[in-house]
Formats: sequence, C-alpha cells, structure tokens
Amino acid sequence: MNEKNLSVFPIGEKNDAFARYFIGQSYLAPLSTEQVPTFNVTFEPGCRNNWHIHHAKEGGGQMLICVAGKGWYQEWGKPARALKPGDVVNIPEGVKHWHGAARDCWFQHLAIEVPGVDGHTEWCEPVSDEEYSKL
Ligand code: MN
Repeated sequence: MNEKNLSVFPIGEKNDAFARYFIGQSYLAPLSTEQVPTFNVTFEPGCRNNWHIHHAKEGGGQMLICVAGKGWYQEWGKPARALKPGDVVNIPEGVKHWHGAARDCWFQHLAIEVPGVDGHTEWCEPVSDEEYSKL
C-alpha cells in the first residue's frame, strides 16, 4: 500500500495549516464544504494528531469513517481502539481524544463535522512517543 492509491478518495494536499497539531505528515482533501463539511484525512505511518476536543454550545462533535489502512482512536482515560476500513467512530462534543495511523501503516479516514452551534476545536498536548509506542 502506498499513499497514492489508498482509497477511491483524493489524498489532497499536505496538511500544512494544521501541521503544528500533528506528529508526522498528514494530508487533507476537502470532499464537501457545503451542507455537512466532510474531509478526507490521510496519515503517513506513525502520524497522529494531538489530543484535542471538538467543542460546541449545542450539537457538534465529529464522525470518522475509516476508508483505508490501519489506525487508532483513543479517548482520554480509555484504552485505544484499533481502526480498519469500514469502522465508524462517533466522537461526542467535549470529549478529549486523538486519532491517527498505526506505526507501520498508512491510514485514511473521512472526518465529518457534526453540525452544531459555535463549533471549534481545542488543541491540547501531543500524544507522546512513550504513549504511542505502547499501542
Ligand atoms: Mn477529532
């Protein structure tokens, strides 16, 4: 598997705008910026985003639909969940979490912004090599 033919969805451009919130290289492809904003996010092996929280005053949160490779999702204080294509993750508003690739495999998921009022993302600390290496 390589990054060029991971799935039917485009890989997009290097995710420079959010690079400071990731360890490793990620890519971002906007699939829809209308109605329900949806992005395809691709992670190189070992790449993961920092701990973060999707906030909103009402509604909000995020859904992930896994489309290629192997990855991880973890909520603060809980064991990490292994992800494979076809898996769906429902991330409630206000829950601290991270998502990213397995150390030996590319990973790709669709990220869907659940509609909400005054939605924004709070970025927190990185997932340390020590934590990640335990997975
Ligand atoms: Mn998230």
